[in-house]
Amino acid sequence: MQTDPDFGTFFLPGPTEVRQEVLRAMLKPMIPHRSAEFEELFARIQVGLKDLFKTERPVFLAACSGTGMMEAAVRAIPPGPILSLVNGAFSERFAHIAEMCGREVTRYAVPWGEVHSLDRLERYLTDAKFVAVLATHSETSTGALSPVRQISDKAHSKGVLCLIDSVSGLAGAELRFDEWKLDFVLTGSQKAIALPPGLAFAAASEKMVALAADSPNRGVYFDIVEMDRFAKTNQVPATPSFSLLYALEVQLEAMQRETVEGRWARHTTMAEQISSWIDASRSRTGADWKNIVASEFRSPTVSTIQLPEGIVGPEFVQKVRKLGITVGTGYGKLGGTTFRVGHMGDHTVSTLQRCLDACEEVIRG
Ligand SMILES: *Cc1c(COP(=O)(O)O)cnc(C)c1O
Repeated sequence: MQTDPDFGTFFLPGPTEVRQEVLRAMLKPMIPHRSAEFEELFARIQVGLKDLFKTERPVFLAACSGTGMMEAAVRAIPPGPILSLVNGAFSERFAHIAEMCGREVTRYAVPWGEVHSLDRLERYLTDAKFVAVLATHSETSTGALSPVRQISDKAHSKGVLCLIDSVSGLAGAELRFDEWKLDFVLTGSQKAIALPPGLAFAAASEKMVALAADSPNRGVYFDIVEMDRFAKTNQVPATPSFSLLYALEVQLEAMQRETVEGRWARHTTMAEQISSWIDASRSRTGADWKNIVASEFRSPTVSTIQLPEGIVGPEFVQKVRKLGITVGTGYGKLGGTTFRVGHMGDHTVSTLQRCLDACEEVIRG
């Protein structure tokens, strides 16, 4: 990944750092959206987006943050009870959105930092009749990565749909929409795709769109049936966010050069880098800090580090910031005792090392 010399200071787990070349692409003038010019842009963007999702299906675009597509997902689900897999703040948000859209939701919750047992999931699916399972690929509040393919297979074995929030997963963590036979996957622009916030993307299987078409109360703005219908003519139902699409086009070209597989590998390497750094740093500095997620479930894109006793999360983050590096505070109830590093998007082993060096300098005091 080719970055600018001054790139590599901003490690929030969303929004992530955006390269200058991508920011500059947004300065181009507007075009009419009901035009051949826009349809050509849409078609060009589809090539890269399909590769990113590993799908032959169209990839829907909406001018909103990830939460908007979460609502689109919920609104597409046929009537009936929903099972929500909760293991952190964003998976809880998915359950909450479903409830606020008037759906009956059962939560299968596990402690923050953990992932769900596939056996227990199977029992939930056997004991009650659900129409859909909601799951979060990379839980950004903790840094836990869920095995979405296995979760989806379990759901399908009971004839249940499975909808995946991959907002901090897609483009950083392996996901193969077609091969894994997924029903619905959504993501946002400002995480591993490393664009400014404001765009959301989703892929839906043909079956998912057909089931949605027969379902009531889909609303208007977040109706995937309309998104699908418009995508067939390289169009979108409402005015697109042109500036972000210009940025997306530049970013997709960069991804094609790196290859999507190369991008996944770079993220895996960065996750291994932060894991081995924390172990080495513990012995170098004596600081008793650790990743809150067990090594086999760590997300390639984000890590939550528990701080040594007596060190307050937001104060630590402030001190790192004074060294010119931005990391994230812990999320919600983990805010006081942890901090988070977003090692996603266009970060590399060398930019991440700068971040880790700053963290270690602060812990040395
Ligand atoms: C960031 C994020 C979201 C959506 O957040 P927005 O602020 O609406 O973009 C949803 N799920 C996960 C896992 C996320 O990381």
